[in-house]
Amino acid sequence: MIDAGLPYSKIKDKVKNVRYVLLTHIHGDHFNKSTIRKLAANHNVMFICGEWLFDELLNIVNSESILVYGFGIAFDAIGYDVAMVKAYHDVPNCGYRIMQDGHKHLHITDTYTLDGIAAKGYHSASIECNHEINKALVLIDEAKENGEFSHLIGAVNSHLSVDKTIQFCKGNGIKKLIPVHIGSSTKKEVIDALKRW
Ligand SMILES: [Zn+2]
Ligand SMILES: [Zn+2]
Repeated sequence: MIDAGLPYSKIKDKVKNVRYVLLTHIHGDHFNKSTIRKLAANHNVMFICGEWLFDELLNIVNSESILVYGFGIAFDAIGYDVAMVKAYHDVPNCGYRIMQDGHKHLHITDTYTLDGIAAKGYHSASIECNHEINKALVLIDEAKENGEFSHLIGAVNSHLSVDKTIQFCKGNGIKKLIPVHIGSSTKKEVIDALKRW
């Protein structure tokens, strides 16, 4: 399982066999403290994280169920080869490379760039398609003209556009993309861009 942002009541029937929870960053849509507490209490799970989440996690679960890793260090999780990849967000964050039986998958979300990350020949990826940049810029301008603040300013600066995600998949020859973390304001344009690709 990657991240734990949903309420426990919504996921409890699906997490019965979960053994590892790979955590990325502190934002509530990824790190729901109550969900994490219940996962720890009701299931035999290990939490994997970077050092930036250790203290927060220690307030919720006991230290024996936490494993801290650094970027690029491969480790084994019940037969999966896993390694952390650095992500670029407004707080420390990471993605994960997950490999099993020759199948290579990259998961990364909440990052404004994928520069420096290579996933040549990966079979699949789950990457955020947070916004469509042209529509986002139009909406930001409209808000400015009306003297309003647009949350899209933050989205553009700390999240990945569908355009960059598609470019990354094309460049690396990744054919199966699971789009994640699609924002509501430009959802239609994101879906259109994915269809065109
Ligand atoms: Zn998020
Ligand atoms: Zn975030």
